[in-house]
Amino acid sequence: MSETRLTPEIDLDGISPDEAFAILGNEIRLDIIRVLLSAGATHQYDDVSDTAETIPFSELRSRVDIDDNGQFNYHLSQLTPHFVRGTDDGYRLSGAGKQIARTVLAVSGAETVDFTTDLQQSCPLCDAPMKAAYEDQWLRISCTRCDGLFGDKAPDESVFWSNYPAAGLADRTPEEAFETGFYRCMLDISSLMRDVCRECAGTISASVSVCERHDPGARQQCAACGTLFPVWAELQCDTCGYAKRLPIEAFTLGLTPVIGFLDDHGMDILAPAFDDVVDLFRHRVETTVREEPLRVSVTIEGDSSALSVSLDDDMNVVDLDQHPSE
Ligand SMILES: [Zn+2]
Ligand SMILES: [Zn+2]
Ligand SMILES: [Zn+2]
Repeated sequence: MSETRLTPEIDLDGISPDEAFAILGNEIRLDIIRVLLSAGATHQYDDVSDTAETIPFSELRSRVDIDDNGQFNYHLSQLTPHFVRGTDDGYRLSGAGKQIARTVLAVSGAETVDFTTDLQQSCPLCDAPMKAAYEDQWLRISCTRCDGLFGDKAPDESVFWSNYPAAGLADRTPEEAFETGFYRCMLDISSLMRDVCRECAGTISASVSVCERHDPGARQQCAACGTLFPVWAELQCDTCGYAKRLPIEAFTLGLTPVIGFLDDHGMDILAPAFDDVVDLFRHRVETTVREEPLRVSVTIEGDSSALSVSLDDDMNVVDLDQHPSE
């Protein structure tokens, strides 16, 4: 394809993660990346344009504000070609350089962003007030009275918790940040179930743990495992270690047939109302476990039909069955 942007004239031998950390572990080099981004010296639209702005060497040097020419040249050469590209016209960020710059933007806040605040939304389980807390790039929604949906497996009575970039707090109320965090979480789940890490596009490994003596009882919290859910799965990126550990039911919600089934029942599961998902988990989802080989079957009830998804211990879908409701 003619639009494919390849730069075969550049030696693009990969660099190891250790090398990348070493290259970036320097204030002047990060400043070069910052200056190139703020000068727009990069592909503006990564996918639709093959033209990129550059800035001349002399301008780059004066904006980075370093007197020692030799030092500047040395640090610039360390960034090239993996993070910065040099052309006849000047310098620009590579795709990797732009991603580094974006990550810095995502995790930066204008000032200290950690907070705890009351939410207007009340707990879907017990109707008590809920709180939103933001700390260490994590958004945590917790109930002031009950243990939340996940029982002992969630820290600090959390109803919901997820990594959330500080930049996503700007121009949003705590309620909107909760909604946005939940949306991002559903996209993460969907991507993980397709064997793709949303952080780095790496492949995913899965493991499953089953409560052997599961009995949630009337309190909806099993004495043996401390939660309502009998099977938990952990999906983790093989490359960067990004992971989610959730009830297996939550992971099934990211599968295309389940997304379609719920859409037919008026529920947009990729951008759902939180209360609706809690209601779904508590009243419309049933999970059964069969051993040797392990098969976990999650059945989601609709109005007149139900959808059953059967998964193995690697979280592969081994069976899918839509049938009339009982
Ligand atoms: Zn509660
Ligand atoms: Zn249990
Ligand atoms: Zn990853």
